[in-house]
Amino acid sequence: RFSTAAAVEDLITPQVSIRYTQHLINGQFVDAASGKTFPTYDPRSGEVIANVAEGDIEDINRAVSAARRAFDEGPWPKMTAYERSRILLRFADLVEKHSDELAALETWNNGKTYEQAAKAELPMLVRLFHYYAGWADKIHGLTVPADGDYHVQTLHEPIGVAGQIIPWNFPLLMFAWKVGPALACGNTIVLKTAEQTPLTALFVAKLFHEAGLPEGVLNVVSGYGPTAGAALASHMDVDKLAFTGSTDTGKVVLELAARSNLKPVTLELGGKSPFIVCEDADVDKAVELAHFALFFNQGQCCCAGSRTFVHENVYDEFLEKSKKRALRRVVGDPFRKGVEQGPQIDVEQFEKVLRYIRSGIESSATLECGGDRLGSKGFFVQPTVFSNVQDDMLIAQDEIFGPVQSILKFKDIDEVIGRANKTRYGLAAGVFTKKVSTANTLMRALRAGTVWINCFDVFDAAIPFGGYKMSGIGREKGIYSLHNYLQVKAVVSPLNNPAW
Ligand code: NAD
Repeated sequence: RFSTAAAVEDLITPQVSIRYTQHLINGQFVDAASGKTFPTYDPRSGEVIANVAEGDIEDINRAVSAARRAFDEGPWPKMTAYERSRILLRFADLVEKHSDELAALETWNNGKTYEQAAKAELPMLVRLFHYYAGWADKIHGLTVPADGDYHVQTLHEPIGVAGQIIPWNFPLLMFAWKVGPALACGNTIVLKTAEQTPLTALFVAKLFHEAGLPEGVLNVVSGYGPTAGAALASHMDVDKLAFTGSTDTGKVVLELAARSNLKPVTLELGGKSPFIVCEDADVDKAVELAHFALFFNQGQCCCAGSRTFVHENVYDEFLEKSKKRALRRVVGDPFRKGVEQGPQIDVEQFEKVLRYIRSGIESSATLECGGDRLGSKGFFVQPTVFSNVQDDMLIAQDEIFGPVQSILKFKDIDEVIGRANKTRYGLAAGVFTKKVSTANTLMRALRAGTVWINCFDVFDAAIPFGGYKMSGIGREKGIYSLHNYLQVKAVVSPLNNPAW
């Protein structure tokens, strides 16, 4: 039997109301040009919680014009870097002040637990903007020792208008990963939120204006991908595109960018990350970490440890304990204290996860627990564990993006390296071992943008994140993210007056 919300404490009821549903363009909340709206839902029940302005090409055009003006004529790129940094810091203070309300809105619209949103994600949001505020006045070029009698220097300039398209799994954090570095470098922005989760970005964008951000610098448009998203990706006046979402959509936006003005694109895409439990591992600790690596955020993480490789000598014990742990997972109303897992984001994702579970059963993996929806209302899925999973099964190949753990058995390190790398993805990997030599071997051999050793999902503003192979192009966070939003200009001048 699964633990349910009835087992845990009372509902947390922070004060939350929906204040903003229009686009934020040029510092003003405005309706869609078409007057159209679309519903956004509460994943606990599937009920509509608000109708939001539905952006399309005309709204993107208006937002890009505002961002263009703010870049070409406005004060933002010309301000001192210190002034920009102060605005980022004031914004972080305002986020801190509204933290409870923002966390509640995030939970309401996304279904993630309030405790996770309030205790982990909001503090991380604040930390990210402190980090980028720190960078704003430390971005500068070099002097270059070139051959000949020349003085050569590089200027690091903002790239211009950045188009940013974000997903629904971490609406506020994805906002921060994109907006933080772009603003620190002096760019202006048009950001399109995911259609599932438009609400919190509008709220924080308003806070940015309260913090003193000039109008037009940050514009937020709500709407669907093939309309508003595609218009942004193919806009001739957008100088750079940053996208997070599925690999399939990543290919589409890359093509749109290439076919329009060849804007540079960074992509943070899907994953099928291995989590490798070695022979010497403390099994109890490995079970807990592997459970967290997969089930965190309802399994809706691009870097989820969704292929749990376990050494044959500890496999049986690991399996038994993993099953027990999944059965103990507390699923229920994400506003309740002690709940570990809320609903999936929407009916499409919910049905997709259930389809993958059926595929696992049909491909003769062993269903250890779970395997169905939980309750009859909303998009809750039972924590599900499959054992006896083979590399070529769909559940071991595709990104399920749900609470479905696949456990695979291995015999030796060389074998597991080959199997772990045999995927089109390369976003992250986890290694659990007491041996430094094993950790070092795996750390070097795994083809992934992040390798977590004896830990998982450790995110920090300073740690770069991004994918090998079809998990993406480029890195976000840390110093690396700044390169995405800067142009390098080489300036060359003779040391002496030329003869002419
Ligand atoms: P998606 O990639 O379609 O959506 C992500 C963002 O891209 C959204 O803002 C969406 O509106 C936009 N978009 C969609 N089509 C577009 C287009 N033609 N042009 C421009 N923008 C477009 O993802 P999804 O449909 O919400 O989820 C599907 C799958 O993607 C999930 O099951 C999961 O596997 C994966 N996913 C990955 C991440 C991640 O962080 N890597 C996040 C969300 C979803």
